[in-house]
Amino acid sequence: MSVTATTAAATPTADRAVCAPLPVLGRDVTVPLVTGGDVTYAALDYAASAPALQRVWDDVAAYAPYYGSVHRGAGYLSQLSTDLFENARRTVAEFLDCRPADQVVFTRSTTDSLNLLARALPAGCQVFVFETEHHASLLPWRDARVTFLDAPRTPRQAVETLERALADRDPHGPALVCVTGASNVTGELWPVRELAAAAHAHGARIVLDAAQLAPHHPVSVRELDVDWVAFSGHKLYAPFGSGVLAGRADWLTAADPYLAGGGASRKVTRREDGGVAVEWHESAARHEAGSPNVIGAYSIASACKALTEAGFETLVARERRLIDTVRAGLAEVPEVRILSLFGDDAPRVGVISFVVEGWNSSHFAAALSAEYGIGVRDGLFCAHPLVRTLLGADPGTQGECGAPEAAPGEKSLNAIRVSFGAGT
Ligand code: PLP
Repeated sequence: MSVTATTAAATPTADRAVCAPLPVLGRDVTVPLVTGGDVTYAALDYAASAPALQRVWDDVAAYAPYYGSVHRGAGYLSQLSTDLFENARRTVAEFLDCRPADQVVFTRSTTDSLNLLARALPAGCQVFVFETEHHASLLPWRDARVTFLDAPRTPRQAVETLERALADRDPHGPALVCVTGASNVTGELWPVRELAAAAHAHGARIVLDAAQLAPHHPVSVRELDVDWVAFSGHKLYAPFGSGVLAGRADWLTAADPYLAGGGASRKVTRREDGGVAVEWHESAARHEAGSPNVIGAYSIASACKALTEAGFETLVARERRLIDTVRAGLAEVPEVRILSLFGDDAPRVGVISFVVEGWNSSHFAAALSAEYGIGVRDGLFCAHPLVRTLLGADPGTQGECGAPEAAPGEKSLNAIRVSFGAGT
């Protein structure tokens, strides 16, 4: 099998090395091609996991000799680690432009953050979520009363759909809207500020899934007026294993700890009846039981600083040019259909999904890797309902992410995704 180079959407290696404002690890990795020889690998799967920034790696290496447990030791290394951990919290709060009383909880990932919030919902909370969400935003609410909203075709329709659903809700109970800031499938930006205003007008709260937004755009909790924000370190140019849930303290403080254990508990005593009484922390530590991932928190903070120092204005403008280049290249191939909910003019980040009519997307993506050394993603991108809607497929179609579902020449039930960012 051979694919034409025009569909590859890669920026030549030399350009990448010159242009990328934020150097990343792995830029010079060479990979063998099935057609013979080696090629410098082009990672175009940033939406899944962005490569770590060189700066983050250097910061982590500089800290490594001082590794110590946090909140638990009187020794120098423990104190230093505690400072780094708590400073990381402040850096993230600044990066997100949080309100003074907001909490920043370190988690494992966006998925973890949203599951934490789902566990902290007040009794009887109704949750509203668009069917277009990533599964991390779609699925954690299963113990609550969830209303799944149909895919809108314009940002305005998204707001109207939400307003209609909220108008029908029980106005006395608590409610939460969960929405993504930038789609991991289409890259399109969602009207977060307007959705937040609609939620608040109906007495509901809103959590922003910023997994794809935060690496590309400034996120201001205050300006967007969202109640919580969740994002993952590994999409923000930090290593795996760390994430953030930031926002209002009240629901978090009223809830049982996400995990029970040391660090979350302030005082533990034996009761007269033989049991154990626990006073839990009211700070973010309440939901961070166990020895926390200090390197993870520190590396997120390092990435936040690097992005801030590079300047989002510059990063957004440069990414805009990359997006236009990739979309223009794809548009030259008649068989390519770019997937979009909101249309060509919608503002978007560097995440572009498409199908090549007549091709099986999984085979196509495999060929890009094997023949050109270009790493893209194929599948349903953990947003099965959205991708099926965009492909016009039967909503009940089976198939996991990455599974080849159609033979070459048949209509593909999967899509291909290229994604890039400040380190591309
Ligand atoms: N939300 C969006 C929009 C995503 O793209 C992803 C990951 O692809 C997630 C949530 C989940 O992130 P994680 O796997 O880091 O928990």
